[in-house]
Amino acid sequence: MSEATHVQDATGAGRGRHRVVVIGSGFGGLFSTKALRHADVDVTMVAQTSHHLFQPLLYQVATGILSEGEIAPPTREVLSDQRNAQVILGEVVDVDLEARTVTSQVLNRTTVTPYDSLIVAAGAGQSYFGNDQFAEFAPGMKSIDDALELRGRIFGAFELAEISDDEEEINRLLTFVVVGAGPTGVEMAGQIAELAHRTLPKDFRRINTRQAQVILLDAAPQVLPPFGEKLGAKTKTALEKLGVSVQLGAMVVDVDEWGIEVQDKDGTRRRIEATTKVWAAGVQASSLGRLLGEQTGAPVDRAGRVSVNPDLTLPGHPEVFVIGDMMSLDHLPGVAQVAIQGGKYAAKTIAGRVGGKGPQEPFKYFDKGSMATISRFRAVALVGKFKFTGFPAWVLWLVVHLLYLTGFKNRIGALGHWTVSFLGRGRSQRTTTMQQIFGRAALSRLKRGASDLVSSPGDYEATRELLAASRRAELEARAAEEARLTDTGQRGQHEEAPATAR
Ligand SMILES: Cc1cc2nc3c(=O)[nH]c(=O)nc-3n(C[C@H](O)[C@H](O)[C@H](O)COP(=O)(O)OP(=O)(O)OC[C@H]3O[C@@H](n4cnc5c(N)ncnc54)[C@H](O)[C@@H]3O)c2cc1C
Repeated sequence: MSEATHVQDATGAGRGRHRVVVIGSGFGGLFSTKALRHADVDVTMVAQTSHHLFQPLLYQVATGILSEGEIAPPTREVLSDQRNAQVILGEVVDVDLEARTVTSQVLNRTTVTPYDSLIVAAGAGQSYFGNDQFAEFAPGMKSIDDALELRGRIFGAFELAEISDDEEEINRLLTFVVVGAGPTGVEMAGQIAELAHRTLPKDFRRINTRQAQVILLDAAPQVLPPFGEKLGAKTKTALEKLGVSVQLGAMVVDVDEWGIEVQDKDGTRRRIEATTKVWAAGVQASSLGRLLGEQTGAPVDRAGRVSVNPDLTLPGHPEVFVIGDMMSLDHLPGVAQVAIQGGKYAAKTIAGRVGGKGPQEPFKYFDKGSMATISRFRAVALVGKFKFTGFPAWVLWLVVHLLYLTGFKNRIGALGHWTVSFLGRGRSQRTTTMQQIFGRAALSRLKRGASDLVSSPGDYEATRELLAASRRAELEARAAEEARLTDTGQRGQHEEAPATAR
């Protein structure tokens, strides 16, 4: 065992109680941990982020309505009153089902956590359907990093358009393409349109932000397919009224720095010049699903979801539960309620077993409905057989999101910012930093160029060296650009600023 490897005493004070390890601090992980509050067990949550992320509101962080803290409270704080729970930061890199241990890493520290019961809720990431190279030019919407990078790109595009004299470039900067017409794509397109039409026009002097083009693309023939044809058609009309161009049956075939290439259903290819692209299509479950599938023989589907028994356990391992976006059962959708209810079910089963109760009934999902906002005061919702549109659906959305947003402070904060944005025109969270915009691209470029620098994901010294090298490279590039501009006598004119939104 290396010097940096630590074996975690998951039983806290060593009371020898039943040890539950939960992987992930998302909906599944948090709700299962909370549901074990009164059980005679010790719970250790291992997650690669120190916060619980309310993903459904990421688009509001990206478009300047909410701050990241309001949708991502520290998990440690959320669980501070739960005495039988502890939290460990780290990316789970291995699960040994025979030894019953979970191995996690953060920088150069490795932690091995033994368990008696395991709940795996590591969720899903973005899928580019085998075209991961698109990610550099079209960030997804899965994390706080994604949302802040997109915020920088969106607001940065308007800034660059303001200082450009080139009509073609202005058009490219003021064209925003959102790929994927599911709830996230609809919400994102609606909010960018509101920014361009309501929030920003007064703030700019040279450009007319109302001329911005917002395009929502999808290969599918309708908007919001899970909501049915009628609500899909209403949403499309509402988006078009907002100024969004909805292009269906359009498959993305290439993405680069300056635009996107699309193939329409009749086979014709066309190019859309657009600096800002947002990827809101496709998900891929955590690779831990494949690891568990290999160890148990449980089938893993193309999206990386692992098949579970009707009680959410893995074949041959009644002590291991897989829940939420990682599990495949009865075609259940990847939505928050499936993860929450799965987490509560797994917790109840574990508590029952420890308390000497017999097996539970198989897991049964109760569909509480789906909703998506289109713009302020306008949403669509499907609750059982009932369909809601417009203002009533929006009120329903508001109430449900306030109820599920974790933490009292966050609810008050969000309500305040919604008042500013929906009753007024403002956006209180428009701050962006250079690191948010360039950080990821610089790191990935450096990693490609200096992959030998980092020997393992937990190599702290190497990571520091990588960041320092990234900073050096940025400064060198700036100095070279300054020298070039001095040579060509271009300084003082409208230079093209660094590629903010690219
Ligand atoms: C932009 C967006 C909008 C959405 N909108 C809605 C909506 O309106 N309504 C709805 O019902 N659903 C919505 N969803 C889906 C919903 O958020 C997910 O279904 C839900 O979060 C799944 O919960 P989960 O616990 O399985 O995974 P997640 O909530 O994704 O949590 C996964 C957790 O695992 C951690 N993790 C991942 N890998 C590792 C690892 N190797 N080691 C340690 N920790 C790891 C992550 O850090 C995270 O804490 C949306 C999703 C997105 C991305």
